[in-house]
Parts: sequence; C-alpha cells; structure tokens
Amino acid sequence: LTSKLPGWGTTIFSVMSALAAEHRSVNLGQGFPDFPMNQELIAKVNEAMYNGFNQYAPMQGYLPLRETLAEKVKFLYGTDVDPDSQITITPGGTYGIYTSLTTVLQPGDEVIIFEPAYDSYVPNVLVNGAVPVMIDLQFPGYKINWEEVRAKITPRTRMIMINTPHNPTGAVLSENDIKELRKTVEGTDIFILSDEVYEHLIYDNIPHQSILRYPDLLERSFVSFSFGKLYHCTGWKLGYCISSPALMAEFRKVHQYNCFSCHSPSQVALAGFLRDRDSYLQLGNFLQAKRDHFQELMAQTRFTPMPSHGSYFQCYQYHRISDESDHAFAVRLTKEFGVTPVPVSAFYQNGKDHKVLRFCFAKKDETLEKAAELLLKV
Ligand code: PMP
Ligand code: GLN
Repeated sequence: LTSKLPGWGTTIFSVMSALAAEHRSVNLGQGFPDFPMNQELIAKVNEAMYNGFNQYAPMQGYLPLRETLAEKVKFLYGTDVDPDSQITITPGGTYGIYTSLTTVLQPGDEVIIFEPAYDSYVPNVLVNGAVPVMIDLQFPGYKINWEEVRAKITPRTRMIMINTPHNPTGAVLSENDIKELRKTVEGTDIFILSDEVYEHLIYDNIPHQSILRYPDLLERSFVSFSFGKLYHCTGWKLGYCISSPALMAEFRKVHQYNCFSCHSPSQVALAGFLRDRDSYLQLGNFLQAKRDHFQELMAQTRFTPMPSHGSYFQCYQYHRISDESDHAFAVRLTKEFGVTPVPVSAFYQNGKDHKVLRFCFAKKDETLEKAAELLLKV
C-alpha cells in the first residue's frame, strides 16, 4: 500500500485523551463538554424513533430541519438562504469541510491555511492531492496578516480556509478581516471555506463575523457548522453545510455517493428543538461564564493567560514555570499533576513551539475547580 498520508500518526486529540484515561487525569485536552446535554432534545430523538423516523432521511437532509436552519440564518445574519438548494445536513462539521474540499480541489491546487490550524485541515487537503500553503497567524494575538496572504496567492490558489471563532486559540475575525478577505479574493476565482462550528460560542459582546452575513462572499463559499458544538452532543456527529446553489449542487454530487444521508431521528428532533431561539441564544453567556470562572481559578496559578474571545478553549503560556517543550510539559502535567491540556505545537505543520497549552473549559464547574486546584501545585 502506498499511504495517502505518509508520515502521519494519530491525531493529538486521541493521543491526549488516551493519556488522560491511562493516568486518570482531568481531561481538559480534547474539546468536548462533560456536562449533560438537554434532556428535552434527548426525549425528542426518542419520540422521533417511536414515531417511525428510522429509515433514510433525504440525501440533502430532513426538509423541516433545513427550513428551520434557513429561518435561523435569516434571523441572525439577515441573509436569505434557500433550504432546498443551499443547505445540506452532514455527519458533522469535519465532514462538511472534507466534502467541500473534495468538491472543488484538483490535484496540485493550493489551499491557504492559517496556523495554528485545526488538525483535520491539512490532511484533508493532502488526501485530495492538493497542496496546503501555510501562513502563520501573528504571535501573540493570532491575527491574520492580509498582505502576507496576498503575497502567497498564485495562479494555483483554489481556496482560502478561515475559522472563526478559532480553534485552538479562541481568536475571532473582525469586520475588517472580512473586508480584507473580500479585497483578497475579488476578481479571482478563489473559493472560501469557512469553519464556523463555534458560531454561538463567542464572548465579550463581539458579533460573529459569519460569511452568511455577506451574500457576495457566500457565492464563493462553503460554510460548515456542527450540531455537536451547538447542543453539547459532540458524539452525535451531525452538522450542516451552507453554500451557493451552484456550489451546493456539486457538493451534493460528492456527498450522495459518500454517506448519502444522516441519522434521521436526530434531524427530526433538531427541527423542532431549533425553533426555540433561546436554545442557541443563551449558549454564549453560558460558556462565557465557564471561561470567566476558569480564568479566575487559573489566576491563582503561575500560568499566563492569552486572550480567548470564543470557542471552547483558553490558551496559557507557561514561561514562568518551565522551558520544556509544550508537548513534554503537557505530558508531564498529565502524569505528575493529573491535568491534561493539548500542546498548541500540534496545530503547526513544522511543530512550531511557542510554548502554549490549550485547555478546554466546556466542563462542569467542579471539573474546572478540580483542575485548577491541581494546577496550583505546578
Ligand atoms: N472544526 C473545528 C474548528 C472544531 O473544533 C471541530 C470539532 N471539534 C470541528 C470542526 C468538527 O466538528 P464535528 O465534531 O461536528 O465534526
Ligand atoms: N474539535 C475537538 C478539539 O479540538 C476534538 C475533535 C476530535 O477529537 N476530532 O479538541
């Protein structure tokens, strides 16, 4: 066998979660909530199963769910998207990203990716025979240098990937970033892939700069979302992708011969549950309180916080504690102190180590308190 991903090992999330389990440490590594999801939504899934929604959903997804999503988009971003031709339900946000890439990429095409980057982006580009072109987010602050982006564009540039709020850093894009993005792609045939799985997990009254606000950009974009992140059920692996009718038609050609359609009963349940706007409008406050609580607890320790305005994650520098590599330090924190973070160097292709650790604060208060108590000893 000739490997499609020679030299690639196991994803950092599996590695750190396995290490946490082995050492019974508090796992603030892989991003998933440890508090229960909404019981009413669980009841709705059961109800849908008892009511007979147990056969294939339509390839595009259950229509009432797509209609409710279109209403949500209109309400939040003021843009009309057609549920029939522009929204497809996917088995998770990662699949939406992968399928978008597969839809547009030809061998040798270049894709601009900002680092640190969510770990699936680069391998997704590589298995499609395309070339990732990496650009560093400026350290610290993790802002995009748009002049550098424009300098890296070549006739082979097919796509630019953005992610706001950003994993792993919690950075968010501003309206000015969108202006710069528009300036960068105007007059070209470059596509945009926008990973917005943390759409509602944005704090400090900052508006989420969704591509869905900008119909001119949506014409050339795929925007990927995750119900796992929306409703604290990452194990459901359900999400959706929104694009222009022309691009979505091509996306569906790929999707229909890959997974075809997604879990029916959860789509039926979500169609009803999503109509209650509070079910997503309250999310930001709920997680901001977690972030603030974690930051307050961590203020007693020798870790140095970096700003986080969104996502599940808060990064810390540790120069006041150690000069070990972030990987070695993350392993030692697990083994000797009983708390597991993720080393941010894992999100760089060349393993660039700014000595930063990512902690997930989407946890019960007692979990965060336990972790901080252990980290106080470091
Ligand atoms: N993109 C980012 C930035 C993420 O953090 C995640 C999930 N953790 C995903 C995509 C994937 O979401 P899903 O689990 O729905 O595939
Ligand atoms: N997105 C989650 C994280 O960043 C994990 C998802 C996964 O394990 N693939 O930690």
